[in-house]
Amino acid sequence: MLEILDLHKAYGRHEVLRGVSLALRPGSIHGLVGANGAGKTTLINCLYGLESGYTGTVRAPGPVRDITGLLPYEPYFYPRLTGREYVAFCLQARGRVVPDLRPWNQLLELPLDQYATDYSAGMKKKLALLALLVQDFAFLILDEPFNGLDLEANLLLKEMLKRLRDRGTGILLTSHILGTLTEIADEATVLVGGRVQRHYPAAEFGTLEADLLAALHGEKLSQLNALL
Ligand code: ATP
Repeated sequence: MLEILDLHKAYGRHEVLRGVSLALRPGSIHGLVGANGAGKTTLINCLYGLESGYTGTVRAPGPVRDITGLLPYEPYFYPRLTGREYVAFCLQARGRVVPDLRPWNQLLELPLDQYATDYSAGMKKKLALLALLVQDFAFLILDEPFNGLDLEANLLLKEMLKRLRDRGTGILLTSHILGTLTEIADEATVLVGGRVQRHYPAAEFGTLEADLLAALHGEKLSQLNALL
């Protein structure tokens, strides 16, 4: 299990995370939900060791980066590196052998011999996913994985995530698309202003949307009522 306990992170005087605790279990999909600026990416960056200067505890059954693959919100691609070279670079940086990419790429259909920087936004996301999928991580952290994907890739990714979960992978994902998230997640944590507002098991997803509307937009709903 990957566990975060009482995580606090501030940028200067701005307290972005205020005592967040969260558990990512093997064989489960955990959705992280929150408004823009709620602290989701900061939480992921702290968990993955990309941020320092936080307090709290991260517990894991090994070094987090060895057992966990991260899909950042906006994956970075070096110029003049083809898709194939990008995947090779990611694996070689971890001392891993580059497998035959054809079976996965029959699904993802990427032009692997073109420069990754010339890919469309959705193709870039798929390429970063490909580099994770071929590595067989125990845990995956996916920041907005559905963003930019077309309908077919969206359906494919949902199916992939469910199958990975069924094989034992623990998946933490953020998504602003609530329907997609509640469709595949086993549990969800709602972050509001850097705090866990509530944790929902799947059985309670029915109230999640109404609660989110109330929590995030209470005042705006009154304004909307005045308008429409
Ligand atoms: P979104 O849904 O828009 O991606 P988020 O929930 O991922 O939002 P974060 O990116 O974690 O939110 O940002 C949380 C807060 O921390 C925001 O107010 C943001 O301005 C602030 N913040 C993030 N990174 C930095 C930084 N490097 N320096 C200063 N403030 C930062």
